[in-house]
Amino acid sequence: MSESILTEDVQILHGISPKKAAVLAESGVHSFRDLLHYFPRRYLDRSTVTAVRDLAEDAPAATVVGTVRASGIVPGKRTRRLEVIIEDERGDKMKGVWFQGVHWISRLFKKGERVAFHGKVQQYGRYFTMTHPDFDKLDAEGPALETGRIMALYPGSAKLQKAGLTSRSFRRIIYDLFKTHGLKIPHILPEWIQERYDLIDGRVALRAIHFPKSQVELNQARERLKFEEFFFIQLMLGLTRQTRRDVTTGAVFGKPGETYHRFLDEVLPFDLTGAQLRALDDVIADTQSGHQMNRLIQGDVGSGKTVVAVAAILHAIDNGYQGAFMAPTEILVEQHYANLQRYLKPLGLEVRLLIGGQRKLLREEILADIAEGRAHVVVGTHAVIQDTVAFHKLGMAVVDEQHRFGVMQRAQLFSKGEHPHMLLMTATPIPRSLAMTVYGDLDVSIMDEMPAGRKPIITKLFSEKRRGEMYEFLREQLREGRQAYVVYPLVEESEKMDLKDAESGFEKLQVEFRPYTVDLVHGRMFSYEKEEAMDRFKNGETDILVATTVIEVGVDVKNATVMVIEHAERFGLSQLHQLRGRVGRGAVQSYCILMADYRRSPEAEQRLNTMVQTTDGFKISETDLKLRGAGDFFGTRQSGLPDFKIADITQDQEFLIKARQAAFELLDRDPHLRDDEHAQLRTYYERYYAGRGMGLVRVG
Ligand code: ADP
Ligand code: MG
Repeated sequence: MSESILTEDVQILHGISPKKAAVLAESGVHSFRDLLHYFPRRYLDRSTVTAVRDLAEDAPAATVVGTVRASGIVPGKRTRRLEVIIEDERGDKMKGVWFQGVHWISRLFKKGERVAFHGKVQQYGRYFTMTHPDFDKLDAEGPALETGRIMALYPGSAKLQKAGLTSRSFRRIIYDLFKTHGLKIPHILPEWIQERYDLIDGRVALRAIHFPKSQVELNQARERLKFEEFFFIQLMLGLTRQTRRDVTTGAVFGKPGETYHRFLDEVLPFDLTGAQLRALDDVIADTQSGHQMNRLIQGDVGSGKTVVAVAAILHAIDNGYQGAFMAPTEILVEQHYANLQRYLKPLGLEVRLLIGGQRKLLREEILADIAEGRAHVVVGTHAVIQDTVAFHKLGMAVVDEQHRFGVMQRAQLFSKGEHPHMLLMTATPIPRSLAMTVYGDLDVSIMDEMPAGRKPIITKLFSEKRRGEMYEFLREQLREGRQAYVVYPLVEESEKMDLKDAESGFEKLQVEFRPYTVDLVHGRMFSYEKEEAMDRFKNGETDILVATTVIEVGVDVKNATVMVIEHAERFGLSQLHQLRGRVGRGAVQSYCILMADYRRSPEAEQRLNTMVQTTDGFKISETDLKLRGAGDFFGTRQSGLPDFKIADITQDQEFLIKARQAAFELLDRDPHLRDDEHAQLRTYYERYYAGRGMGLVRVG
């Protein structure tokens, strides 16, 4: 395949000096493709421009187009400011004001030039004013807006502006690219996909996203490019899955054996729910397939994922393999260890615990037991198990609370050569669209059924004024022999201050609730201290457990019926949901009390109301996604979400679903993309996607 025009250096374009090229490079624009994918941030046309006389305070941001009439730096008491007065075509004036970048911005505006300001306005004296508006210089000589032309405005930065790389110059450069090389831009998607999914041609779409001839064409271009963006991610996920199936053969297990059945029939005091049984059927089928299992169990808090994981491990043990059980926090690891011991002792199986801070000798003993196969299961944090453990014969690895780990980390699990069947568990029910991307390379079992007899948790919102009432309620519950959690937020930036919050709350509660026992657990304690505090609470020695969010995931104490969340307005929705899931784990009615400050943002208000209105994890996650946007949904750092340039995973689910269909259909037809018809696509995929992000995927 000849080198594609897309890889050409932007420097060969007319009007790009070495200096401009250097600045572009800093913005990530090196090649023709980068430039073509430098999508406009906004468009200007008649319908998106507001006349000065139609502006209003408190309205959403508006765009005003006008001619610069005056521009000057005004000395102030403390700082100077730049004021630029523009006049629109009806002769009304408004003002733009800058307190930062005063000098270089002042040099950009010349009297008589046409500009566009975008921002919210406030009325100061005579003029509507935009402070630090987003601005663009418009072509004075170019066609006026009246012609119905839609003009692209590009993302800018001070650096770009200073180098003369304004929206105007982007339009010129990209225009030049199309004029001189437009016909060489390759057609990437095969015709059959374009036809089936009703997409416009890719070359047309790229031209139209920069130079739309109409609103209709612009929309078609957007659709096509969004589809394409999703499509390649889905293709990557599909190939990851395919490669894993081709390359890593999984151990082939037989039917579930003796300990598996004894666990379900003799050890467990309850029957599995239908959802638990279905998840186990999936696991068993996977382990008999000859391929490595990569299955995610998605089940709301309290749906009973742990016993499914234990049964899966027993299935491996029955087949002569070992199991590993990994969790993100030591508290959880301890809890799983206790459960596994309780479940596996009667079956005559050996469980080992691996955490930080164990004595060297003990640790070596444990590692030897695992390496030589005397231990059937090891429980520990991911880091500990992945980095330090050599197994005798690992067959099943369980990863609890998987939502804390991104796709990348997942890809690295056991990269050393062991390929156990992987069972991932997440209590964060995520919307379908996100699941398709974040978990798009996995098979998913959904556990959408709670164990019988659970009562929905009652959630109430209290303000500080009603603290007395809350205490009264808490006292009633304690009198009935119940236990309670009181949780304080822990925000990383001010860990110390937050801890003080929890500590002073702890002291107050001790006084308030004498003679009940109050205890404190937080992230800065040694793990043995945390463990002891948790044990005391589990055994019922402690009535009220004050905690920072270390308590968030997985902790299971059935007699605890009240969860009080202090400063609830500071927590995110999924965190609130997880915390609430700590209660209501038995048959007794449980309560969640949200203590919140009156001064709270509209978003916080929505979060709190959502919590009061529903206990359905899927509904909560939909709301959460809308409020936070996809990037922050999991916490950006670990999300494993690709960085979408034009598509929006929350808004564009329709295209995402189509793109996934198309990508998987393509792999069905042509698993290794070897057809001539797919040659361009393959080249493009290999250059821009393979080996990036999610998996080390080769087309094969
Ligand atoms: P999660 O899915 O949140 O990890 P757990 O596995 O901790 O939930 O289970 C929550 C509680 O429900 C535990 O106390 C567990 O013993 C109990 N449980 C699990 N499955 C069932 C069932 N089928 N019937 C009754 N109780 C169950
Ligand atoms: Mg759990």
